[in-house]
Parts: sequence; structure tokens; C-alpha cells
Amino acid sequence: MPTEFSEAIPIIQELAVAGYEAYFVGGSVRDVLLGKAINDVDIATSAYPKEVKSLFKRTVDVGIEHGTVLVLHEDQQYEITTFRTESQYQDFRRPDKVTFVRSLEEDLKRRDFTINALAMSEQGQIIDLFEGLKDIQEKCIRAVGQPSERFHEDALRMMRALRFSSQLDFLIEKNTLDAIKEHAALLQKISVERIYIELIKMMTSRQWKRGFRSFLETKCYEYCPNFSGRGKQLACFFQLKEETELSEPVFWVLLMHFFTLNAEKASSFLRDWKLSNHMIRLITHALAGLEFRLENSSNVDFLYQLGLEPLLVIEEVLALLGKPSSKQKVTDAYQALPIHSLQDLAVNGQAIMRVLDKKPGPWLGDLLKEIEQKVLHKELENSYEKIVNFIQECALI
Ligand code: ATP
Ligand code: MG
Repeated sequence: MPTEFSEAIPIIQELAVAGYEAYFVGGSVRDVLLGKAINDVDIATSAYPKEVKSLFKRTVDVGIEHGTVLVLHEDQQYEITTFRTESQYQDFRRPDKVTFVRSLEEDLKRRDFTINALAMSEQGQIIDLFEGLKDIQEKCIRAVGQPSERFHEDALRMMRALRFSSQLDFLIEKNTLDAIKEHAALLQKISVERIYIELIKMMTSRQWKRGFRSFLETKCYEYCPNFSGRGKQLACFFQLKEETELSEPVFWVLLMHFFTLNAEKASSFLRDWKLSNHMIRLITHALAGLEFRLENSSNVDFLYQLGLEPLLVIEEVLALLGKPSSKQKVTDAYQALPIHSLQDLAVNGQAIMRVLDKKPGPWLGDLLKEIEQKVLHKELENSYEKIVNFIQECALI
């Protein structure tokens, strides 16, 4: 048993002593069986949330209406969720009502795929009600129960199937895949935030091609924001030159490039996906820089204006497009710049006003820009004295 589990055993024992059942469940059990690193250890119990809270000293209500209490133990934290069934699915979204139950079986039944519906006891015994172990062995993603019903209950599960296919390098079982094909349109009911999480997990997995191929085949993409009718352009991803993991910004820049969107159009596209402002800025800067790099070789102004983060994204994108690129060269060239922002100048606006004894005005910004340009192009040394000499000379003219 891995240490993540053995460290959590006192929690399961505490629940057991109080007369409750408790098991490890979900992704962590699956990942242990696959010999993969565990993300987070989830525990399911027959104790109701109030009962869980009364047993442990340090708890946080993270989702008590769904039955989840966070228990802090030593320096770890564990999500403990009461066995539950989900009912009253409306509009193909998550249920608006969960019912707490005392039976593990009921809890496992509501889980999405057989490989995610395994439980593990304190002694390491696996409870496998839906042949999840066999599916792990056969590298297969299969819905628990009737796939159509399960996707009607929560359409996000279709995207989850695709992302697990990429993350685990598993195939989606035929009936499950057929049901995704049939019900892809239900994704329209799902919030973009939830789809986004699964899309990014799928595309940033090493085996992204596996899930992505099914994403195209099942037409799920047709029901993702701004993807409709763009299957051919999406298929450009299969022409990438290197078999490698994509980072999130690299994925989006490639996508914007294949969709032939300029920075402005890309920005509104990405806002529809609710990306953070930082991410949108990074992607649109890299996209604008990519177009420049495809037409010109780089230069000092280009390096300075973009900054290192987008520059490295561009080099990765170029490599994937089979164009000459070098992260090392770009990094070296960037590091060699005399300054990396206005803050690096040996003088600031205050100092200039003092030296020239002048009040602020538009002249100051113009002069700072001129100094910035000269220093950047090594026409002026970035030292206080040299710059002061320069501005005093300018004042004489
Ligand atoms: P990850 O490694 O990405 O955390 P995970 O399998 O733990 O993978 P979570 O989203 O953390 O995925 O969910 C934990 C467990 O809850 C899943 O393994 C599954 O049993 C169940 N689950 C999560 N989302 C759903 C859903 N939409 N429908 C049914 N069961 C779900
Ligand atoms: Mg998880």
C-alpha cells in the first residue's frame, strides 16, 4: 500500500471504531492499481457529514451539501464524502439533490466509469462491483450501467471519458463510445468551465491524440464553444511533428493558428472559454509573435517587447510545426538584452525631472522611450552617469 494510503489509515480506523464503514475510492484507487502517482486520496464513508465532523478535531466544510468534509490530519488533508446517490438530474447537468445513504454499493453505482468505481478497504482489499479491475487490465473505459442513461444524467461524463482515454492511454469501450456519438449534443447543456477543465486535461496528457481522436470522431467538438464546423482545422493537430506533451498555452496558440485567428479575434474566442486574463495575454502575445517569427527572423525589439514566457511558447509551437526553432538560443538572446523592462533603466522619471529641473509632462514619456530604445540597442550605456550626460546634451539642443 502506498504511503499516501497508509498515512490515511488512522482516519479510516477512527470511523470504523465509531461504527461506520470507510473506504478509499475514486481516482486514487485506480491510480494505485495502475502504478501511477496519486493526485488526492478520497475517502467515502457511511457516516453522515455531521457525524464525520464530530469525530475529527480539525475539519473544513468544503462541500457539505454534497456530503464532503475536509479532514486535516498530521500535515495532510483528506476529502471524506458520505456515501450518496444522486437524483433529480435536470437539464443533463449535475444533480441538484444528493441523498446520503449507508450503502457503499449505492455510492459506487453513481460513479462514472468502472475504473473509477473501485473501493479499497483499510486492509487493501479491493471492492469491485462492476468489473473495474478487468477494465483496468484491458485498458478500457466503460460506463457504469447504461452509458446513455449515465450521459443523460450528466453530459460532462462524455468529456471525462475522452480525457481519461488520453490520460491513461485507454480505449473507450464500444457501447460507451457509441453512446457518446449519439449524445454529443448534450454537451451544450454543460457549463464552459467544466468542459474547459476536461479539454485541458485531455490535451495536456502525453497521449492526447487518443482522446482527441475520439473527440473528433464523436463530434463532441461541435458542441464546444466556438469549435463548431471546424473539424478539418482541428485535425491539423495530427500533423504536428513531435510526439510530445502540449502545455496549455502551446495548445491554445496552435489552435488559434489552425483556426487562422488574429490576436484580436483570438482574444474574444478565449474569453468565451473563460480563460484567465494572464493566460489570454500570454496566448495572444505568443500568437502575434508567432506570425512575426514565421515571416521574419527575430530581432532585439521583438525579444524585448514579448518577454521570455511568450517567446518560449513560440519556440515550442515552431518546433511542433516543423519549423526551425531553439529555446536555448532565444533564452540566451533574451538574457543578453541590456534591459528587460523600463524598470531596469538606471534612471527613472523622477531622476530625469530632477536633473532637468522640469515639471512632468508628455515630454517625459517621450524621453524615457528614447532612452529605453538607445539602451536596448546598445547605443547608450545603462549607467546613471551616461544617461544623465545624454539627457543634459538633449536639453541643450
Ligand atoms: P483525477 O486524477 O483527475 O483527480 P479522478 O478519477 O479522481 O481523477 P475526480 O474528478 O477527482 O476524478 O473525481 C473523483 C471520483 O468521483 C471519480 O473517480 C468518480 O468516481 C467520481 N466522479 C467524478 N465526477 C463524476 C461525474 N461527473 N459523474 C460520476 N462520477 C464522478
Ligand atoms: Mg481526483
